[in-house]
Amino acid sequence: MNQEVLRTLENMKKRGFIVHTFDTPEEMGNFVVWAIGEGESVGFGGSVTVQDLGVCDALRERGNPVFCHWPKEGEPLKTPEEIREIYKQAHFADNYITGANAIASNGAILNIDGTGNRVAAIANGPKTVYFLVGENKFVKTEADAKERCKLKACPGNARRLNRMTPCAGAGYCTDCLSPGRICNSAMWVWHVPQGREFHICVAPGELGI
Ligand code: SF4
Repeated sequence: MNQEVLRTLENMKKRGFIVHTFDTPEEMGNFVVWAIGEGESVGFGGSVTVQDLGVCDALRERGNPVFCHWPKEGEPLKTPEEIREIYKQAHFADNYITGANAIASNGAILNIDGTGNRVAAIANGPKTVYFLVGENKFVKTEADAKERCKLKACPGNARRLNRMTPCAGAGYCTDCLSPGRICNSAMWVWHVPQGREFHICVAPGELGI
C-alpha cells in the first residue's frame, strides 16, 4: 500500500476510525460480508466501488435483509417512490455500506450527494458504517478533496447516470443550477461521532469514480 495512504490511515485512527487494509478489492468485499452478522440488516449508499464488488448481492444471498436502491441485474428499474422507501429503510438498518468521494491526508472524508440519503445516513443513521475505497480516493488537502469531487467524481457520476449537467459534457464543474444537478449536499466526517463505529476499508489501485 502507498506510504501516503498509510500515513493518512494513521491520522484516521486518531479520528476514531477502525482501519482495514487489503491486498485485493475482492478480499475487501469478502471481509465486509464476513464482518456483518447473519440476520443483521444492511443499508447501502450509492457507490460504484461497492456495486462493482457485488457486496449487496452476496449479503442478500446469505439471507441478510438488504436495502439497496440500485437494481439487481435483470430486474426492472425501481420507481421514485420505491427508491424513497429504500432510503428510509437503509437509514434505520443495523449497518451501512458506502464509498467515499475523497479522503484528505489529515484523515477527513468528503462525500457529495444528489439526494442526500447517503450523507444523512453517514451523519446520523446506522450505528456501524463501512466505507469501501481504493487508493485513488486519497488526496493531500481538504481543498484537493473538494477539487477531486468537482473535477472527477461529479462529472463521472453525471455521465454514468445520464444527467444533463454541464460537467457531464465539459468534464469539470461550472457550479450549475441545472435541475439534474448531481451535487446538492456535501458532508465531511472529521471525527467518528460518539456511539457509532466507522470502518475504513482500503484496497490497492483505482476503484469507483
Ligand atoms: S454543480 Fe453542476 S456542473 Fe458542477 S459538479 Fe455539480 S452538477 Fe456538475
